[in-house]
Amino acid sequence: MVQVIEILGITALTLAILQGLMVCTSFWRKRREEISLLRLRESYLQESASQAYRQAQQEIERQQSVWQDWRKFEIDRIVTEAQGIKSFYLKPHDGKEIPTFLPGQFLTFRLNLPSGQSIIRCYSLSDAPEVKDYYRVTIKQIPASEDKPAGLASSYFHECLSEGDILDVKPPSGQFYLQRDPQRPVVLIGGGIGLTPVLSMLNSICTSEPERETWLFYGIKNKDEQIAIQTLRKQEAQHKNLRVIICHSQPLQGGVEGEDFDIAGRISLAVLQQTLPSSNYQFYICGPDTMMSGLTEQLSNWQVPETDVFFEAFGPSSVRTSVKKSTSASDQAHQQHKVTFARSGITAQWSGQQDSLLELAEAEGLTLNAGCRAGNCGTCVVAVKEGNVDYITVAGARPEQGSCLVCVCKPKGDIVLDA
Ligand SMILES: Cc1cc2nc3c(=O)[nH]c(=O)nc-3n(C[C@H](O)[C@H](O)[C@H](O)COP(=O)(O)OP(=O)(O)OC[C@H]3O[C@@H](n4cnc5c(N)ncnc54)[C@H](O)[C@@H]3O)c2cc1C
Repeated sequence: MVQVIEILGITALTLAILQGLMVCTSFWRKRREEISLLRLRESYLQESASQAYRQAQQEIERQQSVWQDWRKFEIDRIVTEAQGIKSFYLKPHDGKEIPTFLPGQFLTFRLNLPSGQSIIRCYSLSDAPEVKDYYRVTIKQIPASEDKPAGLASSYFHECLSEGDILDVKPPSGQFYLQRDPQRPVVLIGGGIGLTPVLSMLNSICTSEPERETWLFYGIKNKDEQIAIQTLRKQEAQHKNLRVIICHSQPLQGGVEGEDFDIAGRISLAVLQQTLPSSNYQFYICGPDTMMSGLTEQLSNWQVPETDVFFEAFGPSSVRTSVKKSTSASDQAHQQHKVTFARSGITAQWSGQQDSLLELAEAEGLTLNAGCRAGNCGTCVVAVKEGNVDYITVAGARPEQGSCLVCVCKPKGDIVLDA
């Protein structure tokens, strides 16, 4: 009897184990199928995202080929965003269509100042490309300080221009733009007026990729300098995948943490590490030189691949790439090159003391065209008649073969320039 019970028990146990195994096998088979389906979907989404992105880029190139040089735009509206910061809404004077752009790109302006001087400056498009009938730029006025005059272009925009005035504008351009990939979480970092390109990216994500996980860090001194806060907070409330973190480096007295700002202090790696769940993001950074060079270096120490970090500087203080100014005697000896400015009949010696060929030309008393001095606007393009150059920063503009952007180049050996 006991034996029968034992046999029955063993049989029941075996059956239960077999059933369990069958359930497990079918569970894992289903899971495998689900995973391969998910992978298929992901690769399909990635493929269609990059396809959509390629199509968008082709469309932009097509539209921009219609307008390559200067085009007249009318200032339709001027809005004061904060003290010393204004937005300018621009509509084409010919009333025709305007090309779309990639969020993060900028416009180039030729400004004829009352003094008779004509200057060129770049300003980022601060609204999303999905807005089809106007461009918006947001400009901070550079005031005069004890030892420096007021900024020419920014003061002209703030003090001389009114609604209805006409400006010469080149089409949107620039290599600092948001990569379309809804699957890829993104961190946008804007310091001061450097918020403008990342604001365009954010507005575009909220319109076209609302599911994309997005973190926006906005660093300013305090409430007096901040712009677009209501818009940012509204977007955060409307998008469950968006977090906005406001950092005040010098909070006003009475400013309340958690209300007026989220973090007291500058945007730093420590701030990112304490806020983000991991480092697995694409990072887009625009801000003052100190913030940018610090952050880009720290992100690399946090194992963020270089290919996931995109940045732009607003001016000559662009972040350096791997080519650094060397100081050792042997390096200096290697840097002795002859630079000939053929049209001006000037030959100068490059010894590594200047930051760029543009600076060397200026030190020799030459005046070359230059807009942004950061390799972005393409104004300083010069043909290279003999020799080669090295780029000292990542340039936004793409000069034709045989030409170079003197504001961000140094000679590789003896060189002859058509300037
Ligand atoms: C791609 C790109 C996008 C940009 N986007 C924006 C944007 O969205 N918003 C924005 O506000 N800015 C933006 N900028 C910056 C903008 O292009 C201008 O550089 C900025 O407005 C200052 O120009 P300015 O003519 O007013 O100043 P400048 O006249 O060029 O002067 C700049 C600084 O140099 C000092 N200076 C001038 N002359 C002298 C001198 N002789 N000796 C010593 N110091 C001097 C001035 O006091 C000032 O501090 C962007 C720049 C780039 C490259």
